[in-house]
Amino acid sequence: MKMVYSFDEGDGKNRKLLGGKGAGLCEMTQLKLPVPPGFTITTEVCKAYYQNNKNLPKTLWPEVKKNIAKLERKTGKKWNSKENPLLVSVRSGAAISMPGMMDTILNLGLNDTTVEALTKKTSNPRFAWDSYRRFVQLFGKVVFGVNDKKFDAILENAKNKQGVHLDSDLNEQSLREVVSQYKDICQKHTGQPFPSNPDDQLLLAIKAVFNSWMGERAVVYREKNHVTKDIADGTAVNVVAMVFGNMGNDSATGVVFTRNPGDGTNKIFGEYLVNAQGEDVVAGVRTPKPVDEMKNEMPKSYELLLKTCRNLERHYKEPQDIEFTVERGKFYLLQTRSAKMNAAGMIKTSVDMVKEKLITKERALLRLQADQLEQLLHKTIDYEKAKGSKKAAKGIAASPGAASGIAVFDVKQAVAMGENGAKVILVREETKPEDVPAFFASVGILTSRGGKTSHAAVVARGMGKPCIVGCSELKINQDAKMATVGDITIRQGDQITIDGSQGDVYLGDIPTIEPQITDNFKTILEWAKKAKKIGIRANADTPDAAQLARRYGAEGIGLCRTERMFNASDRLGLFVKLIMAKSVDERKQHLEKLQELQKSDFIQILKAMEGYKVTIRLLDPPLHEFLPNPEELINKIHKLEKQGNTQEIEELKVILARAKELAEINPMMGHRGVRVGITYPEIYEMQIRAVFEAGAELAKQKINAYPQIMIPQVGSITELNHIRQIYEKVKAEVESKYGLKLKINFGTMLEVVRACLTSGELASTAEFFSFGTNDLTQAVFSYSREDVEGKFLPEYMEKEILERNPFQTVDVNGVGSLVKIAISNGRALKPGLEIGVCGEHGGDPNSIKFFHGAGVSYVSASPHRIPIAIVAAAQAAILNKSKPKAKAKKSHK
Ligand code: PEP
Ligand code: MG
Repeated sequence: MKMVYSFDEGDGKNRKLLGGKGAGLCEMTQLKLPVPPGFTITTEVCKAYYQNNKNLPKTLWPEVKKNIAKLERKTGKKWNSKENPLLVSVRSGAAISMPGMMDTILNLGLNDTTVEALTKKTSNPRFAWDSYRRFVQLFGKVVFGVNDKKFDAILENAKNKQGVHLDSDLNEQSLREVVSQYKDICQKHTGQPFPSNPDDQLLLAIKAVFNSWMGERAVVYREKNHVTKDIADGTAVNVVAMVFGNMGNDSATGVVFTRNPGDGTNKIFGEYLVNAQGEDVVAGVRTPKPVDEMKNEMPKSYELLLKTCRNLERHYKEPQDIEFTVERGKFYLLQTRSAKMNAAGMIKTSVDMVKEKLITKERALLRLQADQLEQLLHKTIDYEKAKGSKKAAKGIAASPGAASGIAVFDVKQAVAMGENGAKVILVREETKPEDVPAFFASVGILTSRGGKTSHAAVVARGMGKPCIVGCSELKINQDAKMATVGDITIRQGDQITIDGSQGDVYLGDIPTIEPQITDNFKTILEWAKKAKKIGIRANADTPDAAQLARRYGAEGIGLCRTERMFNASDRLGLFVKLIMAKSVDERKQHLEKLQELQKSDFIQILKAMEGYKVTIRLLDPPLHEFLPNPEELINKIHKLEKQGNTQEIEELKVILARAKELAEINPMMGHRGVRVGITYPEIYEMQIRAVFEAGAELAKQKINAYPQIMIPQVGSITELNHIRQIYEKVKAEVESKYGLKLKINFGTMLEVVRACLTSGELASTAEFFSFGTNDLTQAVFSYSREDVEGKFLPEYMEKEILERNPFQTVDVNGVGSLVKIAISNGRALKPGLEIGVCGEHGGDPNSIKFFHGAGVSYVSASPHRIPIAIVAAAQAAILNKSKPKAKAKKSHK
């Protein structure tokens, strides 16, 4: 096994083997871009390291040394040299980028001898000692696990002692003292002298990078972002000859996006710091300058930067996020990767790059992360209403969107409170990678330090959470859990609102407005609609939801849950009376009133969806769900008994008796759906009549309404046929009443395992199928869908028993197999049979890709997910098209 590839020999496409960074460096080197020389130790070595009990393969070291020798030849420098020492950076890099989640070490190769050589060589002792102190600090932190705060305290002390404010103002003498104190800390921590031999340093650094693959923050990141082993398995290690941005005022380092990642504008966007090294920018220690200023300060390097950005985009056909260094006026590219952008940025760049003829429409659609589009459907501050509201402070708008929540200053508390359902705004001076779990638990992030490319900004943008950074007027006291700005104090638990689009911090809960779909977004949706092959319908139970769904592009309603109509405040009382009725006659009286109400609901929804099919599902939940909970009833009765209110007590006791009578041990598998329809036929009859009469009235008004009736929880053809008889009777009656013929399809849900297995029989009666993948998943796994997510599922995912939550993304092997069987048997009888999906999976991009392949006619998703579903369906169609088709068999005549 070849374990090490130099940048001029590695395959730039093989991200799995070389990691994204390594592959990028190889590709850039081979494109003759100004990349410092280096080599990559493969992800296979990382895997071998873990398989072999955290031991490196024996043959690795000779390969590394061979490549170090190559570096010596290329740079003219020498490893551990007393004259011209070769220094390297050691960087992690997995197949996909995991920003800031793993470790990097810079300036490796320095020791008490080489630092003097570097001083002599550059005639710049300050630079040499600054590099040395950075090396010891990073090495101490990453390799030995020394707490960063200890180093920070020493640095602060040194600045105070010398009477300066900036790290870059520390002189050689101060830096010498800092290095010595840093080494002492490391020695105290490990009980060993700080390693001075560059070979030992490199070996330890390689192991540390491999170890960071299983570090807590990397593991959490992979879990939250569903980075499974087939996406990235292990990290590579990149060893790169150092170039120095801290060699003086003609040197700099920076991070630049080739287009603005916040809104997609085609203009480079980023920051740089003069006389600094890379981690200064990312950590937000010093506030960097906007890259525009480089035009005046370093015009030649700026021109090269622009040219490099253009070349990179032309080559990768994707906006890039690059790191660069200028060493004494010479420009170097250290890294390039596809820029992580928010949804607005992705949409605009997709549309722009098609206009610029850089990419095709298909590529423009494929590069979008369908799930991310949800950001565009997020709230923003209602600026009109917010006019009079008190702004407490202003910072840098780092990630757009608005969020209100309680200010929490402590990372652990933010995680605990967020996971308990509180809306948390994380407020910190700055953030570090280990704070990432708190990002997941928070609705927004506010920091007092750092720029637009600081850790907090990058992570929040990737997650699509509102974020403000560099809000320096906010004086944060992390220990006292409070912040002050002027005479305002924000304490932990206080309600605040942040506007990540403008950088404003407000006190209190500020009104927000629903987002608008921009012209660029509309263009994308138009392209997607043309590309997709399956229909997209909505799960909508009210006329408002139907209208919203239609605005977002829904082509009909795939699921109208009629029980939600009974839950409306003016209906529930009636429905309870119906359940409590002592005779069929009494029940019928209540049903008549409910029928009128349902009919008018249906008319409104059908009007909102004129021209499209509306699938109306008859009552599904068990009846006791509509009655008060027995425990509550008992408590209420006890209270009333104390007050002596006998009449009400008697009424409640009757309800309690009925509630107990209807109670079930296992209601999800109980008396619900079609089983209620068969045992209380008047309920389904009423609902069917309401649908037919709504259809008849709209037909008379010449409105194109296409209602269809769907029966839930069906497990056998006999159940379905039983309801079909009621349907036929009502149909005949309504048709004769209105004097017209109505075509209202009659179909079944497939959410019971037996229904899937006998779909060939069901298809003889059903005119359409719709998979209820929520109940089907519950049934296939035997997991209670109501309980599982709050119980063992998180641990199952943590322990990788399950890769994903099957209630979110369809379980292809289990549920998916049943889906395929059901489709195949149903269509064997009726080839053109309409088959949809109306469980939550209908709005999940990964599941949509599966359903497209399985051959469904449409998926149905909640209104806010319609645009996501449209794009995901388009991606599925495009990907399917580009799959090589199996060769047709030659026929033998
Ligand atoms: C389903 O089971 O997938 C479904 C859509 O029905 P409900 O969620 O209402 O049970
Ligand atoms: Mg269901």
